[in-house]
Amino acid sequence: MQTDMQSKENCAVCGRALVYGTEEVTKNCDFCGNEYPALIYCPEGHYVCDTCHSRATLDILRDVLESTKSADPAEILEKVMSHPSVPMHGPEHHAMVPAVIVAAVKNAGYPVPEGAVEKAIERGSKVPGGWCGFYGVCGGAIGVGTAVSVLTGATPLTGEARSLANEATAFALGKMFDGAPRCCKRASRKSLEAAVEFLKKRMDIHLNTGEKVKCRYAARNRECIKEACSYYDISSV
Ligand SMILES: [Zn+2]
Ligand SMILES: [Zn+2]
Repeated sequence: MQTDMQSKENCAVCGRALVYGTEEVTKNCDFCGNEYPALIYCPEGHYVCDTCHSRATLDILRDVLESTKSADPAEILEKVMSHPSVPMHGPEHHAMVPAVIVAAVKNAGYPVPEGAVEKAIERGSKVPGGWCGFYGVCGGAIGVGTAVSVLTGATPLTGEARSLANEATAFALGKMFDGAPRCCKRASRKSLEAAVEFLKKRMDIHLNTGEKVKCRYAARNRECIKEACSYYDISSV
């Protein structure tokens, strides 16, 4: 097995490094028992489906978003990710990105549609793990488009709004060509930076942006690109 097919994000059952396969295999989730075609699984045969993998984080995300008054998306994201139950990588990050953007827009005093934050969580949590490498679109970048869709009420039949949501995804995705293995922390942070820029330029929505984030997760990420990452902080390792 090649090193680049493994991840420091370990099996939730036995702690071994996960396999990122290229051929789908059928697995039963160790928690809910449902059967899934799987590309990411434990070499010992364990498998945790995206729903079970994300459950704790989505609860944490909802709690933070209900209580925070912050209009700084980066600050909200870092708070959610700092919870010890949030995994290093995984599809829960796909829900965090759109939900955090929508919550920050709301907290900044802009009108948002009824139930917008929950809608962003629901839609974001449907984007599967590994989407960047297996399907060619980073789930964080999709989250920026999802946030715009939720904010504008876009549907497949709306002209301008649908187009704007796709433009937002493309804009964020354009920041992801780094030639490196995925890092869900890096991608989520970049997605939010892209969102702040896009919302300002294209929707006249101005969000707070604080100090540049210093990453505290390098030691947990086997594929960390270290100095090549703009969030890398040598003092945290
Ligand atoms: Zn295992
Ligand atoms: Zn499950």
